Amino acid sequence: VIQIRGMNKWYGSYHALHDIDLDVRQGERIILCGPSGSGKSTLIRCINQLEQIEQGSIHIHGADVTRQDKPAQVALRDVGMVFQHFNLFPHMTVLDNCTLAPMSVKGMSRRQAEESARERLEKVGMAHLTGQFPTQLSGGQQQRVAIARTLCMDPKIILFDEPTAALDPEMVKEVLDVMVRLANTGITMLCVTHEMGFARQMAERVLFLDQGVILEDTPPQDFFAAPRTERARAFLKQIL
Ligand code: ATP
Ligand code: MG
Repeated sequence: VIQIRGMNKWYGSYHALHDIDLDVRQGERIILCGPSGSGKSTLIRCINQLEQIEQGSIHIHGADVTRQDKPAQVALRDVGMVFQHFNLFPHMTVLDNCTLAPMSVKGMSRRQAEESARERLEKVGMAHLTGQFPTQLSGGQQQRVAIARTLCMDPKIILFDEPTAALDPEMVKEVLDVMVRLANTGITMLCVTHEMGFARQMAERVLFLDQGVILEDTPPQDFFAAPRTERARAFLKQIL
């Protein structure tokens, strides 16, 4: 469903991603890890066009999304994103956060959008707090709402950028539990995280990124047991 060829990204004169080739199949669950500054966020932000690339192509469902034309827009509608800092709209209730995009982008009626939002909020265990504002929720609750909000757009692919990195330790598990359940629904997931237990549990592939290059692309068992590169070994030693 995602095909990246010869992707290069510069920030000014800084070469952030080097010749990235990547194929993601339908329903695949991929973990992206690597040192700070290695380009993990940049890579997933390029996929959904939050960043422009200077070279190469990114196809989603066959459409080259770098072209910014109608087919690109349609393909990108299938891609959801969950951020480290939740990015909920602070002045809107949980329910309104979840219905805004389906109503404005997909043209759903309020009734339809609310019904679908309640269903998604139920799935993440947040259906009892639909009238709250984000500031009245814990970090873990906010992130679960953010995941529900993404699900309300019925994405085929979800990109996660360190979804648990900003959470207090006791809230990490409730968010990971939701993500594991999501993984079992067959949705395509690309997740930047350093939660290696989670990676073992749900991932089919681990990509290790270093200095803008994909150094490893292997099943988690192999990655943890016997990383091929010295860089990955050093990285694992630090985080495990
Ligand atoms: P972290 O683990 O800290 O989140 P990361 O692997 O996600 O790191 P990126 O955020 O993708 O790394 O950044 C890759 C490199 O590109 C870094 O050196 C960073 O300083 C640089 N960079 C990222 N965003 C920008 C930007 N908007 N302008 C200039 N340089 C940037
Ligand atoms: Mg990052």
